[in-house]
Amino acid sequence: MSGEKMTVMQRMMMVVANRLPNCQKTAELVSESMDRSLPVGTRIKVWMHLKMCSLCQRYADQLRFIHIAVHDHGDRLLEPSEGTPAMSNDCKNRIKRALRESS
Ligand SMILES: [Zn+2]
Repeated sequence: MSGEKMTVMQRMMMVVANRLPNCQKTAELVSESMDRSLPVGTRIKVWMHLKMCSLCQRYADQLRFIHIAVHDHGDRLLEPSEGTPAMSNDCKNRIKRALRESS
């Protein structure tokens, strides 16, 4: 019966899922993987979690995007490029005021 098979399948999935890192741990590992390569076993667990969890998948995509952007353009981000005016004190103060009022 297919119903029986599904139950076995679901039980197997649960066993696998229980061995996988949770969302918080996965987020940490994804972030860590940007700086150093993780052990193969850990990489597989993270990969499996990402396959099952769309939230962590999105987080990993965004982190990868930021990582690439900073890697490619980081030096430009640190120094204001020519033609980009620095933020005026008046502008900074308006932002500070708005933040204070909204909190
Ligand atoms: Zn997750």
